[in-house]
Amino acid sequence: NTLIAFRNVWKTYQMGEVQVNALKDVTVKLGRNEFAAIIGPSGSGKSTMMNLVGCLDIPSKGEIFLKGRNIALLEESDLAALRGRTIGFVFQQYNLIPGMTALENVLLPLEIQEIDDHTAEKRAKELLTLVGLSDKMQNKPSQLSGGQQQRVSIARSLACDPEIILADEPTGALDSVTGKEVIGILYRLWKEKEKTVVMVTHDLHLAGYASRHIQLKDGEMVRDEPNKEQIDPE
Ligand code: ADP
Ligand code: ADP
Repeated sequence: NTLIAFRNVWKTYQMGEVQVNALKDVTVKLGRNEFAAIIGPSGSGKSTMMNLVGCLDIPSKGEIFLKGRNIALLEESDLAALRGRTIGFVFQQYNLIPGMTALENVLLPLEIQEIDDHTAEKRAKELLTLVGLSDKMQNKPSQLSGGQQQRVSIARSLACDPEIILADEPTGALDSVTGKEVIGILYRLWKEKEKTVVMVTHDLHLAGYASRHIQLKDGEMVRDEPNKEQIDPE
């Protein structure tokens, strides 16, 4: 049932003479159909943890297992393939390609996976409909609001049907009303589509929608517990 496991993970950055321990001895497991918020103030190690959960970086010490595979022992191309079908990424700044329509942006990961055109187009349209953008498929990012752009980016993250959606401050660039729509979509992906959502945020209100709180302080995991007061956005 475990999708990602950290075993005694350390991440150390060398800054000239100085060593910074951005993560210190973190042991944690993320299973299927969880909604976890990684919280903590600026500098506590959230981005470092996000990069490691996303298998975009490797630990300085300790091991990380993605679906049971020790990522340090995988070839780069095998890791990229495993990551591509297991994890979908949602970023604060959306990271959409400006010259492409919403539909083309969602099609991109499907084309990379060499899904046939007909299947890819059907799937991309379904995903844009799922996030409420069936009437905006031909719009380019500049013709969409921030919240709509983030919904395109969520649709894109779902393209390869990953088990995990990894969201970095997903509402950080949005006003509170639009942010609530976006968090509502992530909540439904967890509740109705049984995705594992891992959200990194410094916003405690946003963390209220998650079912599990993982708190970092100076690189240490100081708290990991169920959120007994989970907010239902409905
Ligand atoms: P957060 O996302 O919670 O703000 P980070 O993971 O970005 O925290 O940073 C944790 C610590 O690691 C901070 O002290 C930060 O300065 C340091 N750090 C992060 N990335 C690097 C890097 N590439 N090189 C050197 N130090 C870094
Ligand atoms: P539902 O069947 O309720 O729509 P699913 O989670 O099965 O919920 O599907 C969500 C979306 O993902 C749908 O658009 C579906 O077509 C698509 N989908 C489901 N499984 C896969 C898969 N293995 N590969 C590609 N697309 C999939």
